[in-house]
Order: sequence, then structure tokens, then C-alpha cells
Amino acid sequence: MRYFNAGDRIITIDGVDPFAQLFFLHVKFWPMSAAGQQRQGGAHPLSGVANIGRLGNCSDISARDLRPMGQYPRLGKATVLARVFYATLKQHRGALKSICFAPVPRHDLHPCVRRYLTGLITAFQTLCEKVSSNLCDRPRSDDLLNWYDQNARVLPWRIAPALSKSGHLPDPYRVWLSEIMLQQTTVAAVKPYFLKFTSRWPDVRALASAQDPDVMAAWAGLGYYARARNLLKCARAVTDDHNGVFPQELSSLLKLPGIGPYTAAAISAIAFQQDATVVDGNVERVMARLHAVQTPLPDAKIELTQKAARLTPTARPGDYAQAVMDLGATVCTPKKPSCDICPWCANCGALTQGITAELPKKRPKPQKPTRYGIVYYVERADGAVLLERRPDRGLLGGMLGWPGSAWDDAPKDAPPVRATWTTLPQRVRHTFTHFHLELTIKTAQLSLSEPVQHGAFIDRHQFRPAELPTVMRKVFDLVNSAEFGYHQPILKTGHDVP
Ligand code: SF4
Repeated sequence: MRYFNAGDRIITIDGVDPFAQLFFLHVKFWPMSAAGQQRQGGAHPLSGVANIGRLGNCSDISARDLRPMGQYPRLGKATVLARVFYATLKQHRGALKSICFAPVPRHDLHPCVRRYLTGLITAFQTLCEKVSSNLCDRPRSDDLLNWYDQNARVLPWRIAPALSKSGHLPDPYRVWLSEIMLQQTTVAAVKPYFLKFTSRWPDVRALASAQDPDVMAAWAGLGYYARARNLLKCARAVTDDHNGVFPQELSSLLKLPGIGPYTAAAISAIAFQQDATVVDGNVERVMARLHAVQTPLPDAKIELTQKAARLTPTARPGDYAQAVMDLGATVCTPKKPSCDICPWCANCGALTQGITAELPKKRPKPQKPTRYGIVYYVERADGAVLLERRPDRGLLGGMLGWPGSAWDDAPKDAPPVRATWTTLPQRVRHTFTHFHLELTIKTAQLSLSEPVQHGAFIDRHQFRPAELPTVMRKVFDLVNSAEFGYHQPILKTGHDVP
């Protein structure tokens, strides 16, 4: 048995100071890299060790002396060790104080005392090594599930973890609807749409029998309108081909319109507690940091999915999927992750290496091009406005919009009617996934009898700007802004003229 003094200098093997031995164990497992020291947000990681070191022999230990080691809240991996350290010392403090006068020559120790000390140190060493190997090897899904049980977000499409643990399952319709809505969008943006849809169409059969324009109008503003068209197709397929019941298996779910691998896994895991791994942007970020994956996205997708799959438990896979999503959304956030409250802080590769801010790495995106277009805002003498429904296929497919030109580098004039046009001095700018768009707006007023080449007039009582996609709504808002003052009070509300 080796003896170390408080300065961690090996002296000899002839005596034992349990306190110094514990100190040594702590030092041994401490991440000593410069990066490790930097990540602690001001508290130097060795300061705790230095405090212990200053105490000298175990006979000096008091509860107050030990407390600082157990109270470093932001030390991640070290916090766990410090807490184990503190708890163990606290538990054995009385015994240590009464029997240890260090350094004690081994031959002077009573055999009982020696056995006691040997047992104590061996037990502590085993404990430390166990904790250390847990820390360094891999995170446990149980730790995350325990955290989720206390910290799950309350969302309108979810059931609470306590209910889920007691065997309840959420409504697959609500899970499916929320997952489709959440693609490319935030929870905050989705909530009002989800509530609107479920109050108007409370189950899949109700949605399947809805009118297409009603669903498209209800979806307006949520973007990615192909999702709304697929939503309807999927609701009808579930109603017609599956008797209104969502299938549980991934293979059957994948055959439904608008359901890809991510959504199928989410429905299967969350709605049916099937053993499926759910990997979205949040999960990718958590996995990249947890395992310190340096490969940039999207190249790292397969590796991150494999790591996520290895962590997915067979028990409560749905809760686990939601737990990782919640961790990514609320703790392991893109900027400034809150590692001090993370249930996996003791196992996190990025935290240990001090590189949380650098991960996940991403391949640089190509610059978005800018396209140009012309839109025509036409108002008739009775206040009706000229709109047209866009073709089902393509951008903003199936949505209402103002008539206009194609969107390209040099758009050609394509007025929907012969009129005297006024070009607004300001343009509308909007960004789609792959390009920026700049729209020139031309306005005109028409008499009641003027024929139009395409589009149709919508009565002012029936026109609801909220049913336009965002870019078309921007056009409407600009035309009706205070600056241009084009029938602003009437059309903004969609109500009748006083
Ligand atoms: S919050 Fe911090 S400790 Fe937790 S996984 Fe993310 S980077 Fe690691």
C-alpha cells in the first residue's frame, strides 16, 4: 500500500493515510488537460484538490473542511467524483478521526485497524474506479429517463411520463400530426396550429373528410406546404386502407404519404412504445457532443444514428425519444448548453474535452442565390381582390397567392389583366430553403366589368389574409401598410367595412 503526502509526492510504502489516499484517487481521476481546466467557467478544477491538500492529515478533517469539495456545481465529471468523495469521507469521518494519526507506520498499526483501513480504501478505490469507468465509458439511458421524469416539457400532443410509465399511450393521430407539423419548425410555432387542427379535426377520420382548401388555409403560415398536402393524403390513406387506425410497424408507416424514416420512428416509438430510434436535429447535436464526434454534418449522420441506436433502451423507448429531444431543446442547446444541469454531464466527451461550443461541426452551406419576381395586387371597385390558387406541385403548391410572374433571374411582366399599374418603391424579401426571393409589387384598381386573364376575385367579406402563405402575406401587408395606405383597415381584418 502506497503512502502519498498532501502534495501527491510518493514517499514510501510503509504507511497509510486514508485521507491522502482518497486525495490521490481524486487527483488520479481528474481530467488534467488545459481544455478540461478551461471549461469550468472560472472555478479552477484544481482548487478543490488544493483545498483538500492544504488540510494535511486525516485527523484534520471536519465537515466544514470537506464541504467545498462537494459543492462545485459546475464541474461536470469532477462534481460526481467530488460528491462521492465528500459523501464517503463524511460517512467515515468519525472513524477516520478516531483511528488515524497519519502518517502511521504500518508496523505500528493494530491488525484490526489495518484491516479496517485496508477495507475502507479498497472499497473507496473500487467505488472511484466504478464511477470513473462509468464516467469515461458511456452514458446510461436510465439517467436521462430519470431526468425526463422530473423535467419533461408539457406539450399538447404528449402524455406525462407518469402516465406513460403506468402503461398509457398517447393518441397516434396527435403524435403523427405534431411530428408532421414540427418538421423544419419550432415547438412555439406549431402549438397554435396543432390546437387549431385538433379542435377542428379531432381525429384522423375527421381530417380525411376535410376539404383541401380548408386544410391548406388552416396550414397557411406554417410553411413547407407539401406537408399539408401529404397530411391530407395520409389521413385518407389511414382511413381508407387501415380502417382509421395508424399501423404500428415502421415498414407499414413508411408506406404512408409524407412519412419518412424520422416520422415513422417517432410515431412507432412515441405512440406505440416500439423499439425505434428517433434522430432529429436535437438528437444529432446531443449525440455529437456526448461522443465528441468531430465529423461534420451531414457526413456524420450515420455515425450519430448508430450511437443514438445503441443508447435507445428497450424499456420506455418512446419516453426516451422524447427525453433526448427535450434535452436537446432545453439543456444541450445550440448555443451555451447548460452542462451543469445535464444528466449526462458526467459522461460527455465534448464537456470533458472543453469543445461543447464547437460541436456539432457542420459542412459549410453553399450561398443561397437570389431570384426575382413580380406580383400584381388588383382591387376591384367593390373591394374584391384578385387571387389565384397555385398549382399543386411546386413551391407553395395548392396555396392561394397573388397573380405573378415566374421567379428567376430576370422575370418577365405577366399582368393578369389590362390595367394602369403602379409599381411600389419597396420590394418584398423572403427566404426559402434554397434561395432568397425579391418581389416587385404592382398595384391596380379595376372597374366591376373588367375581365381578367387568370385568377379570380374574392369578395372582401371572404378574404382572410391569415390564409395566405407568409410571402404572399408580406405582399399584402406592404400594400396595406400605413406608407401606401391601400384599403388598410378593411382588408387587414378580413371583416366587413363599417
Ligand atoms: S448539455 Fe453539455 S454535458 Fe450535456 S450532452 Fe450537451 S454538451 Fe454534453
